[in-house]
Amino acid sequence: MSQAPVLPPFKIDTCRGNQNCSYAVLSAQELLLSLQEILERRLEGHNVSSHHSMLRFSLSCCPNSCSQPQVRDFGLQGRQKPVITDHPCIHCQACVKACPEKYVHLLDQGPHFSEHCLACGRCIEVCPTGTLEEGKSGWSLLVGGKLGRQPAFAIPVGHYLSHDEVIQNILALLEPYLTATMNEGPSSQERFRAWLDRNSVLTKEAPPLLSPLSSHNRSTEKK
Ligand code: SF4
Ligand code: SF4
Ligand code: SF4
Repeated sequence: MSQAPVLPPFKIDTCRGNQNCSYAVLSAQELLLSLQEILERRLEGHNVSSHHSMLRFSLSCCPNSCSQPQVRDFGLQGRQKPVITDHPCIHCQACVKACPEKYVHLLDQGPHFSEHCLACGRCIEVCPTGTLEEGKSGWSLLVGGKLGRQPAFAIPVGHYLSHDEVIQNILALLEPYLTATMNEGPSSQERFRAWLDRNSVLTKEAPPLLSPLSSHNRSTEKK
């Protein structure tokens, strides 16, 4: 009988946003280093015997999500919210053309955003008048995504989180999971999503949804 492999207990994927992607709205480098350091310290000696048992993290520097954060135990997506300023709009249509989903459209008084806006920041870049400017930016944190026999999309638990808020929220969910499962040894380790669901963690203890993704029209938010 072949011996079970010995694998590292976690893996962090990142998109190529830190290298040369023009769509990146945040840099993942600092967060990547912090996560690596924290996880290496906390999981030292806890090797696992299958790829399914690895905790998977993924950082994407914009909502395009090239590193697939939606199907990882912990996924992060960079967001950059546009806001409307008092600089007059010249109705050039550049923002409308820049949005792949057409989540911004023009009214007589200027641009108006759909509630479904993904906060990717592309429309801000092209506005020649300063009518659109950068509002808040930060990370969306998704938890509990996975592939395999019972695939599940990760659930968003916070938007526009800072570096420290991301770490804080990840640890708040991870620590009880590790305490409950990893002391039992690699072979008995329950997957993170199964543990979340079995204990109804996201309905009982989820970190608060800190801010909605959209709501950035002139009547609700102005810079
Ligand atoms: S997720 Fe966004 S920033 Fe990262 S590689 Fe893809 S398009 Fe570029
Ligand atoms: S920030 Fe929103 S409206 Fe602007 S391009 Fe991205 S999805 Fe479209
Ligand atoms: S890009 Fe700026 S100026 Fe042009 S239509 Fe959009 S908001 Fe108005």
